[in-house]
Amino acid sequence: MKKLSIIVPCFNEEEVVNTFYEVVGKELEKENITLEFLFIDDGSKDKTLKILKELHKKDEKVRYISFARNFGKEAGVYAGLKECTGDYAVVMDADLQHDPKLLPKMIHILKDSEYETVAVRRVNRKGEGLRGFLSKMFFKFMNKLSGLDTKSGEMDYRMMSRKMIDAILLMSEYNRFSKGIFSWVGFETKWLEQENIERSLGTSKWSFKSLVKYSLQGITAFSTTPLVLASFLGILFCIIAFIMIIVVVIKTLCFGEDVAGFPTLICCIFLIGGLQLFCLGIIGEYLSKMYLEVKNRPIYIAKETSEDNE
Ligand code: UDP
Ligand code: MG
Repeated sequence: MKKLSIIVPCFNEEEVVNTFYEVVGKELEKENITLEFLFIDDGSKDKTLKILKELHKKDEKVRYISFARNFGKEAGVYAGLKECTGDYAVVMDADLQHDPKLLPKMIHILKDSEYETVAVRRVNRKGEGLRGFLSKMFFKFMNKLSGLDTKSGEMDYRMMSRKMIDAILLMSEYNRFSKGIFSWVGFETKWLEQENIERSLGTSKWSFKSLVKYSLQGITAFSTTPLVLASFLGILFCIIAFIMIIVVVIKTLCFGEDVAGFPTLICCIFLIGGLQLFCLGIIGEYLSKMYLEVKNRPIYIAKETSEDNE
């Protein structure tokens, strides 16, 4: 019998972990498949770990990895994929925003068709307002820049076969952007759709700041186009400067020198100075990413796992 690993990154999710376990377990009761729950406690400050321990005691299908501090959801997903033992794995949020009713369908698609992965897309973004709109724009922009095929409304709700899990694990980069990684490894994705579900309990762990950071990380992790933009602007301004020099020289030769033009001069200095700093900033952004990659630090540090005391 095949085995399915359910990977759940949890950061301060004490209110929802138990419900998640029950709802998902019930949904898959009738399926002819062995289950493994793999919860990743991402340095939670609340009782999440305690609840996970209790669940593990009650049901040996439940495993957990507890991080030494908060490493972020991407690190949690990586740890889950690395440690899971299933023939298939599905990544899900703990807050039940990823509709468990789709699980049986996903399993059947992987079992009965050629697809190596099934992912879910959110079709309406009601109840999200500005955030939804910004996210849509971001995905458009991101795909243009990187040539990847990430879908607007794509959630990190995805089931995949062992083949794809192994492919993802080959990408051991430190700056992880899952949506980009899933698209980069290839394997045609079967898309399912679900309505937007409000978080059942607790609060979203994303602040606006962290979302902006995440977006920038997505771009720099999968695209070098901004660097090309820097060179392009450089060339453009060289050409403009060259033309201006010729114009100024000719003008001075024909009409003599005048002292006027101070405001223009100041404007040019500011503009070009600003542009130089902007381009330096882009280079710095990539350099900092390289710095972190070169250090080759581990993606996460586990302080405790369910296998520790066995
Ligand atoms: N999460 C995590 N580490 C973090 C932030 C979030 O493991 O630093 C988990 C969180 O517990 C949840 C999932 O990632 O299971 C999605 O988080 P959330 O629901 O806050 O995000 P949203 O649904 O608003 O995108
Ligand atoms: Mg959520």
